[in-house]
Order: sequence, then structure tokens, then C-alpha cells
Amino acid sequence: MKIDKIKRISVISAVAVFFFVLCAVHAAARPFGDVDNDGAVTSEDAREILRAAVELTTLTGETRAASDLDEDGSLSSADARLALRAAVGLEALRSVEEAGKIAADVSGVGALKNGIYTYKTLTADLAALRSAMPSRFSYRSLGKTADGRDIFCVVLGSGYGARQIVSDVGIHGSEHMNPPAVMRTLALYLQNYDKPIYQGRTVRQILDDTDLYIIPMLNPDGIAISQWGLSGLNNPDVAARVRGIYNKQRAAGGTKLSLAAYLKMWKANANGVDLNRNFRFTDKSLNLKSQTKLPANRYYAGDRSHPEAETAAYCALVGSLSAPVASLSIHSQGGLIYWLGRQTGEDKAAAKRLATTVSAVTGYRMNNSENFVCAAANWSMIEKKIPAITVECGVGRTPLPASELPKIYAAVKNLYLAVAVLYEPPAS
Ligand SMILES: [Zn+2]
Repeated sequence: MKIDKIKRISVISAVAVFFFVLCAVHAAARPFGDVDNDGAVTSEDAREILRAAVELTTLTGETRAASDLDEDGSLSSADARLALRAAVGLEALRSVEEAGKIAADVSGVGALKNGIYTYKTLTADLAALRSAMPSRFSYRSLGKTADGRDIFCVVLGSGYGARQIVSDVGIHGSEHMNPPAVMRTLALYLQNYDKPIYQGRTVRQILDDTDLYIIPMLNPDGIAISQWGLSGLNNPDVAARVRGIYNKQRAAGGTKLSLAAYLKMWKANANGVDLNRNFRFTDKSLNLKSQTKLPANRYYAGDRSHPEAETAAYCALVGSLSAPVASLSIHSQGGLIYWLGRQTGEDKAAAKRLATTVSAVTGYRMNNSENFVCAAANWSMIEKKIPAITVECGVGRTPLPASELPKIYAAVKNLYLAVAVLYEPPAS
């Protein structure tokens, strides 16, 4: 063999070995206790855990989760001691990936039953996702609706993220193809938590320090009304009130629709309040007058001195977050994104950046006209200074047909990952 050829082969082999090692490092599981994420547990890691346990330092996101060696939900000297024992080979610790493995196939989550996605299906799907991966998926109720349903909030991620992305889905009753699209998205994230899914990276890597706070069905009463009419309501008094709202509107000439058609197009909650007009602003001049004076299936802003349970739940959630970086309101329809809502300066620039990212990942176009209707996104932006947008999914008349669901899912499935990447802190 010629010297040149030998040289060439050894260079190629060296490069191959280098890439193999590089890939191996990337694919390496992260052991519990590996605070500095160098692939091994050392006395340095034990020291950092001890410092965090006595609050001399704060650990967040995946690092915080990986530091809880005994997996009891808190950091203590016991975790540091376990790390020390692991460092000298006295303890064999499983990897965080092993601990966070998905326990069941959740690919059926977000499926329609008889062409619709009901509150009941949502409840079952939430339980299925939590039992499949309790370490990365939890949910709780933020409050009860007038007709006795829970307003659920999901947390997807380590639960210890330094940043949060918040998203409300299904605030309008007739927009009930969006909850299943978002639930399918959450199932997809859990199924691929440790597999490359977006830009060659895993969900764990992308959500390393960012938790998703998703309200998958903010207005379950309104959705039940749109799907089932009066028979969808649990409480006969609530059903009678909804019927009364229609009767009054009909008598006043406010609608010519039949009761069935009127209820099918219902956007409000069970009190006849359009929740996305119900948000209140400190600057009272921003509180727009209601487009209708009486409760209705849409456009009635309600009594602003008494926010509805759903509105209050959203505000309480957003107000409880330590560092929300983006708020995404998922609506239908039109395939477009509203982002301009009386912001100025850097707030306006941040909302535009967010909308640009979401436009690129969903294929929906940006609508650059002012859209201020006392909506959730307006409230997040103005009252909480969180970049916030409204995403109008799908095309057609709401309620959208089941045939729109695959298209909506295709548009939104990378949405939250793209936004998380947008808000990643610069590498130090
Ligand atoms: Zn809407």
C-alpha cells in the first residue's frame, strides 16, 4: 500500500472515530446527579446539589429534575449524599431518560369520537398522558365553570423550567377542532421526548429549561353547547338560562337563526359571555364597550366588574408564572396570526418576532392590522408585558369539519417547540 493511501485511510478513520465519539456523547444518557451535564457524576455535582438544597444556588429545568436523585420532589442533603456515593462507584444511578420513559402508547390521544372532541374525551386523554409520563406531564383544575366542568391546565416539561410558555385553547365554543389538535401535539411531544423531533433535537433538549402551560379547553361549557345544544349541559337551570338568552335575542330581532343553528355557532360560555371580550384593563379607556348589550352566543363582553370563571382562571394562571416568555391563544379560523394590539416599542417588536416565528412554523400568514378586543392575548401583552399572539387555525366556517383537523395538527405540531427555541437563552 502506498504511503499516501495509508495516510488517507488513517485520516478518514480518525475523522470517523471523532464523529462517532461526538455522536456517542450527544446520545449519552444523563445520569441522575449530573448537574453540570458532562455525562458523569462527580463530587463537584454533589457539592452543587448541596448548595441548591440550602438555597445558596438555584437549579432549574432538566438540571433541577436530574438533581433529585431520590426522586422525592425536593432537593436535600440526601440527594447530595447519593451523588457522592455514585461518584465513588458505591451507587448505580439510572439515567434521567430511563426515569422519564413513556409507559404507554398515547398515539390515540386527540382522536375524535363521532366526528367531535368532547370534554369527556379530553378528560380521559389527560389522564392517559399523565399516567404514560407523570415525570413530564401533569395537569390540574384552575376552577369550575357555570355548568360544573373543570378548566384544566397542563404542565409539560420538567416542571422546574426557568421560563414558561402559556397557551389557551378553546376559549370560543364553536372552535372545537383546536383542542384535539393541541392534545395530539402534546402526545407527540411525550412520545418523542428523547428522540430527535425538531431541528434534529429532542423535546427534552428543546424544553430543557422551558415548561409549557397549556389550557387545552378553556371554555368547555361553550364547546358542549356548540357540539350538543342544550342537551350538552349538565344543569337544567343553566340549560334554561341558555334557552332564555336565545329567546330574548330572537324576540329583540337580534337573530333569525333556529335554536339549533344558534347554539351550534355558540362562541360564549354558558352565561352568554364572549370570554375573549371579557378581559379587564387597568387603563379603563382600553375596556371596549360590548358589541351587544345582552348575553348572546357571541360578542357580549359581560360585566367587567365580575370576570367570568374562565377569564379569572386564565389571569390567575398567567399571574402565577415566574417568567412567562410567550402567550399563544389558539382560535379558528382563517389561517392567520394577529399580533398587533396597541403595544409600543420593544413590546411591539417582541410580539412581531413571536408572530414571525409562528408564521414560519405553521404556514399561517401574519395579519398586521390592529386587533384589540379585550382578548386573552391583549391582556397578556398589555397587563403582563408578555409577547402574545392569536393564532387562527384552519379555514372554513366554524365549527370546522373533522376534515380540517389533520391540517390544523400539521400546522401546530411544531408550534410550541419553535417558540421554545425562539426563547432559548444565548449559549454561555
Ligand atoms: Zn375564537
